[in-house]
Amino acid sequence: MDAPRIGVGIDLHRLEPGRPCRIGGIDMDSPVGPVGHSDGDVVLHAVCDAVLGAAGLDDLGTLFSDKDPANAARDSSEFCVEVMRQLREAKLRVLSLDCVIETEKPKIAPHRAAMRARVAELFDVPVDRVNVRGKTGEGVDAVGESRAIRATAVALLG
Ligand SMILES: [Zn+2]
Repeated sequence: MDAPRIGVGIDLHRLEPGRPCRIGGIDMDSPVGPVGHSDGDVVLHAVCDAVLGAAGLDDLGTLFSDKDPANAARDSSEFCVEVMRQLREAKLRVLSLDCVIETEKPKIAPHRAAMRARVAELFDVPVDRVNVRGKTGEGVDAVGESRAIRATAVALLG
């Protein structure tokens, strides 16, 4: 096996009341949801960028332009399918993923297990090699003031 490759991905979306809230591929009951051209799934976007970064491929914004009406309100799991297609073409696979979500609401803990399972499924990696964790913004900056949600992901490929 070639030496493993590591990549990092970061994503942020504004939160607004009354928006649907899908994070890590899981639909949540939440008074606020991410604003984005697609469904605004910060976790899937951060993980896709981490995987693409590690593989030396174009980033998500280049692959799926927010100027393209075809990507409007799009289910981000479709981005993952394309990322995985490119990964297989490059003869690479995901060895492990870790993702930290910074948000005041919705609370992540009740959804962690479901998110791990969904991310594992989408990126074709065993669930014990995927982690997703929530963290608050300590009341400061856009995340702490509940105006935004941010996700940071690290991917190891082999
Ligand atoms: Zn995004």
